[in-house]
Amino acid sequence: MATGKIGVTTENIFPIIKKFLYSDHEIFLRELVSNAIDATQKIKTLSSFGDYKGELGDLKVVVSVDKNAGTLTVSDHGIGMDADDINKYINQIAFSGAEEFLAKYKDTANSIIGHFGLGFYSAFMVSKKVVIRSLSYKDGAKAVEWSCDGSPEFEMTEIEKAGRGTDIVLYIDDDNKDFLEQDRIDTLLKKYCRFLPVPVVSGKEKEWKDGKYVDTDKDNVVNASEPLWTKKPVDLTDEDYLKFYHELMPGNEDPMFWIHLNVDYPFTLTGILYFPKIRSNFDVQKNRIQLYCNQVYVTDQVEGVVPEFMTLMQGVIDSPDIPLNVSRSYLQADQQVKKISSYISKKVAEKLDKMFRDDRKSFEEKWDDIKIFIEYGMLTDEKFYESAKKFFLIKDVNSKYYTLDEYRILIEPEQTDKDETVVYLYSTDTVSQYTYIKACEDKGYNVLVMDGQLDSHIIGLIEQKIEKTRFVRVDSDIPERLIVKDNQDDAGLTPLQTDIMSTLIRSQIPEIEKTNFIVSFAALKESDAPATVTRNEFMRRMKEMAAMQPGAGFYGEMPDSYEIIINTNQPVVKQVVEDATTSLEKEVAPIRADIEILNNHIESLRKEASEKKESMPDISDKESKVTELRNTESEVISSYAKTQPKVKQIIDLALLQSNLLKGESLNEFIKRSISLL
Ligand code: ADP
Ligand code: MG
Repeated sequence: MATGKIGVTTENIFPIIKKFLYSDHEIFLRELVSNAIDATQKIKTLSSFGDYKGELGDLKVVVSVDKNAGTLTVSDHGIGMDADDINKYINQIAFSGAEEFLAKYKDTANSIIGHFGLGFYSAFMVSKKVVIRSLSYKDGAKAVEWSCDGSPEFEMTEIEKAGRGTDIVLYIDDDNKDFLEQDRIDTLLKKYCRFLPVPVVSGKEKEWKDGKYVDTDKDNVVNASEPLWTKKPVDLTDEDYLKFYHELMPGNEDPMFWIHLNVDYPFTLTGILYFPKIRSNFDVQKNRIQLYCNQVYVTDQVEGVVPEFMTLMQGVIDSPDIPLNVSRSYLQADQQVKKISSYISKKVAEKLDKMFRDDRKSFEEKWDDIKIFIEYGMLTDEKFYESAKKFFLIKDVNSKYYTLDEYRILIEPEQTDKDETVVYLYSTDTVSQYTYIKACEDKGYNVLVMDGQLDSHIIGLIEQKIEKTRFVRVDSDIPERLIVKDNQDDAGLTPLQTDIMSTLIRSQIPEIEKTNFIVSFAALKESDAPATVTRNEFMRRMKEMAAMQPGAGFYGEMPDSYEIIINTNQPVVKQVVEDATTSLEKEVAPIRADIEILNNHIESLRKEASEKKESMPDISDKESKVTELRNTESEVISSYAKTQPKVKQIIDLALLQSNLLKGESLNEFIKRSISLL
């Protein structure tokens, strides 16, 4: 028998392991099973090269618990270790450089863990004693037993062992008794080991007999699932991918499509990313990507490891280049991980680009469902935007899809305004905004549909990225003014007529809570509607943004602001203007004249005072006179307006068209319509 000291100069390594190594003690099992798998793969390799000539035998790895003895054992039939190997790999190697590291990272035990392959020693997180019993594959090798109780001292003796391979026996300590429960072990193995390449056996398969589950004599193999991502895409069918998806994500509906990643330079990375159908914000669940390291499950907390937008996807990523033994904060800061992340992003973009170029039609068919992923990527990842702008599609109201470049070429001739800005017209609801869309199309404009969850953000992004671009919602102005091509010609009303008509119209707009109306006039086509209600684009966006933030804020409290535009060329309006002018001119003109005289007077007093740098004389009597005259004027006009049902009808029609006519006003409108008939 030999005794010795494990090659660590610090006595304190074990407390560190116990305390800091992993917050999840359970991963010791992952470490031990993967060592067993490694040893098994090695013997297979040696055998295939003819360097091992013996029988391979049954290569399964067996995990077993013995509650009475208080042990958990991981057994393999791999290459095994002789005394020299144990010295080299267990006693020395695992802690090589420990001294140096401890000195350097005294306060940050976590970073030590990041740098060590502490795999085997993680067994001490849950054990009071660990025993290795091993027989090497080498000719004439002697079986050895190594044991250690968690102090840096170990014992090693020669023993008798029947078969090649290694048993690692853990004497589970009192705090960790749950690792002696078969169910707990089964669950852990399912989590960490289900895609390992060598059969891993845990207990026996069970069957239902005489009212309870009993063991059969068949081994319970935990990793019956195929790790599909390790295969070549050409060898796989859609069914294979779907079957695998449902194994990973039981209970989900079929994904839309998937991307099989297969990278071997500048690092090794494989994986399959599935694009699920996302119907609502509630569908967005993160942590649906599992990270593997050589088929060993590491984590599903991939934030910071894969690009943010990919957290909407589901699937697996496997890379031996992602450091395994580390905490998540460490992972996120790791430069290598950052590179991997941006590389994945690039690969996904390339794949989408290829899909777009290879079969545009089917890409367009999928577009409505996948655009949320692409938009999310463009919004959160600058580089992804750069590649995605080539295949990013926008859809018009006739369900035609365009790339950004194609669309610009399409609309540039008709939709460039006087400042050379290209105006993208869009609708967020093709049903309720139908008349506005129609009006735009009649003018030869194209209208986009922007009704996705992220579309309002994408609009902002495109306006910012593509110079001289502006998005305008179809109902934010009358078509003539959505795209201002030259300075507008006036509405053809005299100042007196404008005055009369503004008051006339304003007096007949129903009161709507938190809603303001501006009245304006435009000489549109005779066949256009007599009046149109539009909603200011800027105010609408501000309010929408405010609504998405908690506490609504300033813009959220602002009233909605609408503009009611009267078409002075429309025959009914023309008639209204004419009638109003004849009926009101006599009464209103003298009032207007008085107001003008008073205003001129006030103005000249002001000028004089400011030129002489004197204080202003008291003009309040003149000002109140003006107010009085204005009131009289508007009384005259509105009492006239009441005798003109057509005016109200014109306004109500416009309100109705934009969903603003409700309740009592709507009721009145219907009654009036009937009587006008
Ligand atoms: P790593 O697996 O990262 O090398 P570990 O601490 O897990 O680090 O294991 C250290 C070494 O011990 C392994 O590289 C291997 O040489 C040896 N070893 C551990 N477990 C076994 C086993 N079951 N069979 C053969 N060798 C093993
Ligand atoms: Mg290991």
